[in-house]
Amino acid sequence: MRIWSLGSGSRGNALVVGSGDRLVLVDCGFGPRALVTRLKAVGLVPEMIEALLLTHEHQDHADGAAKAQHKWRWPVYASAGTHAALRDIPAKHRVVLQAGAAQTVGAFTVEATPVPHDAREPMAFALTATASGARVGIAHDLGAVPPALERLFARCDALCLEANHDGEMLRHGPYPRALQDRIRGGRGHIDNAESGALARRLSHPGLKALALLHLSETNNTPSLAARSVNAVLGSSRVQAHPAAGRSAELLFALEAATRTTQFSLAL
Ligand SMILES: [Zn+2]
Ligand SMILES: [Zn+2]
Repeated sequence: MRIWSLGSGSRGNALVVGSGDRLVLVDCGFGPRALVTRLKAVGLVPEMIEALLLTHEHQDHADGAAKAQHKWRWPVYASAGTHAALRDIPAKHRVVLQAGAAQTVGAFTVEATPVPHDAREPMAFALTATASGARVGIAHDLGAVPPALERLFARCDALCLEANHDGEMLRHGPYPRALQDRIRGGRGHIDNAESGALARRLSHPGLKALALLHLSETNNTPSLAARSVNAVLGSSRVQAHPAAGRSAELLFALEAATRTTQFSLAL
């Protein structure tokens, strides 16, 4: 399993999750032209993508969804509320993701759970590759961490978690009080400390990779986010990697564990 970020933060979000050559896109905050450019930067083309999953309808996650769907004819998977908020996607290409139900999407099994955020019906996803069994938990915008999300993400090989802001930078930064209250109000965004605490609770010997998403350019920095989360993680073998805000990159590649195991058994 490989995961790429095509951009992360309020200027636009999109993640690509791949199993072999089979890809799905999670969120589409970029229009078709920007999407092609960003995919090309990491050696991918949109024709490799089999489906689009949307966490919620906010512009930075879904602005390019309808145009990209129209161009590449992807089925679009999202909650009923997210679909209701996105009127330009034809009904025949919509698939409703129900919380708690497992759905096959391309080369993955997708499970969804609701998250608190100021959108219609936002969700976080766990994707398990059918071929390798590798599992990744993806939580974009969320204002708090519900117990069901922790259960869904409990035994992931990789995690992609929001780490939106540093509490002190937000408090002393330029945002007006009302906006600050919205961000930290339980239906906004979690901060570095909350993200680190979540990562620590989800940490287990099989966790191989941790990416931090959706860093604020005003109230956070990549080095501060990584430092904060790694400090909470302590001696865990996993080190947090903050996703680049404006450029595309490979976040991580997980090798199937079975090959190593089989080799040692053969000896
Ligand atoms: Zn949002
Ligand atoms: Zn967002």
